[in-house]
Amino acid sequence: MIRLQSYLSGRWEPGEGEGAALRDPSTDEIVAQASTAGLDFAAALEFARERGGAALRALTFAERGALLTAMSKRLHDDRDELIEISAKSAGTPRGDAKFDIDGATGTLAYYGSLGKRLGARHWLAPDEGEQLTRSSRFWGYHVELPLRGVAVHVNAFNFPAWGFAEKAAVAILAGVPVVTKPATATSWLTYECVKRIVDSEILPEGALSLVCGGAGDLLSHLRSGDALAFTGSAETGRTLRSLPNVIEQNVRLNVEADSLNSTVVAPGIERGSEVWQLFVRDVAREVTQKSGQKCTATRRVLVPRELLTAAQEDLSAELERTKVGVPGDEGVRMGPLTTAQQKRDVVEGIRALMDEGAERTFRGEAPEGKGYFVPVTLLTQPKPTEAALVHRLEVFGPVTTLMPYDGVGEAIELVARGGGSLLATIYGDDTQALTELVLGLAPHSGRVLVGSRKVADQTIPPGMVLPSCIHGGPGRAGGGEELGGLRGLRFYLQRTAVQGDRALLARLLDVPREE
Ligand code: NAP
Repeated sequence: MIRLQSYLSGRWEPGEGEGAALRDPSTDEIVAQASTAGLDFAAALEFARERGGAALRALTFAERGALLTAMSKRLHDDRDELIEISAKSAGTPRGDAKFDIDGATGTLAYYGSLGKRLGARHWLAPDEGEQLTRSSRFWGYHVELPLRGVAVHVNAFNFPAWGFAEKAAVAILAGVPVVTKPATATSWLTYECVKRIVDSEILPEGALSLVCGGAGDLLSHLRSGDALAFTGSAETGRTLRSLPNVIEQNVRLNVEADSLNSTVVAPGIERGSEVWQLFVRDVAREVTQKSGQKCTATRRVLVPRELLTAAQEDLSAELERTKVGVPGDEGVRMGPLTTAQQKRDVVEGIRALMDEGAERTFRGEAPEGKGYFVPVTLLTQPKPTEAALVHRLEVFGPVTTLMPYDGVGEAIELVARGGGSLLATIYGDDTQALTELVLGLAPHSGRVLVGSRKVADQTIPPGMVLPSCIHGGPGRAGGGEELGGLRGLRFYLQRTAVQGDRALLARLLDVPREE
């Protein structure tokens, strides 16, 4: 068993007492302990602000980008060891562990190369600006400089590597030091990632700190100029939004919460066509990858009424191909859920959806006894316009609900009942129907993926979050936004309008000269 430590104020700290026990989800055995009792978070935040902030701001984008590239490389060098730890701490088969770890190194590398492109600058170059009065000398520019505080990142359990890296990459490139707090249950993998980065002395002191264990009073020391980025349940999101100092000190807050993502098959698709097959494969992957414990997993699948039976049959056949079991065992593609509580919640969630009238269309095999395994489950809700829970309850496991719809307008209305999602995926080829669906679903979604014939063999898996596109969603998904290339940096930068003599400002703000 390993004792995890936090890395604060430039030191590794084990915390006091026994702390929380972290378990191997496949065996229920305790594999690690973590405690934050007795740790001085106020001093750690101050250390990060003072030391880490000053050091990062002294670097150019290109130099900060080089740090991210080195972090990516360091983690990639130990990929196999990290995959093994992921299996023991999060119950992930190799494919799921790679999804998390390669997502982390890929995002760090992406922001590393973005830093290189931004070059030898310390802040984002203002655009061409605008004349503000009748005088062509009096001008206004917008300049964006790093916040003078610390970025605290509170992450969900399901992506201990990627969740840490995607937030840290953006903040560090922006020039803001990071204190990262993974969910305790799976913090072992984040600990191993941060340990490698710290041991390799890649980053300046104070640029990256780690909290392994409960948040304690960490967030009560946040103040004006700091940024808090949270990923997790809507309930915790609400708690963080209402923290007195977050309100009083106007701490910047980004919330990525849960989401009832939808898949919509547009009218006019033929069963067995290329686009139909893509739909079937994608849904099956989204339901089973990471045991359905992905914020982007599809929870509601809407098909034209006349295709309901075909979808039930083809999805069931595809889901049946996923073998559930202990990671590493022959042929196993899906592991357990991460904690015993999650298993209870998922079993309870399926029951609640069935109490509302959903029928069980498919139930896979899953090991009984020790470990937090649950069977892959496909439900069908025959009356989605009358049901409420299916549009409200996120069952965070390998479960999705199929529903028939009548007309594109109804499909959009049903998706909207989810109250705002991270993702909507549409499959179709009829331009008119796709136009209505894309424009109808976009206001309710952070991202819309369209799977059509010409890209059927070139799309990304819908649940894959790319650093170049924004991640986040309106309404219950938290209303937040992360990544999206340069867009992601803006959360960590203060945008200031600077007004005055055009030539003077252009010189002192380092505005690129027109050729
Ligand atoms: P959670 O219970 O809300 O926990 C998330 C994080 O918040 C953990 O690090 C947790 O720490 C911390 N936390 C909990 N209460 C806190 C408090 N009072 N003060 C400070 N920190 C606190 O969520 P989860 O179970 O880990 O994650 C599952 C949920 O996350 C799902 O609903 C999923 O949809 C959502 N999710 C969303 C996204 C997205 O990008 N939108 C991505 C992944 C997951 P401890 O572990 O130490 O309690």
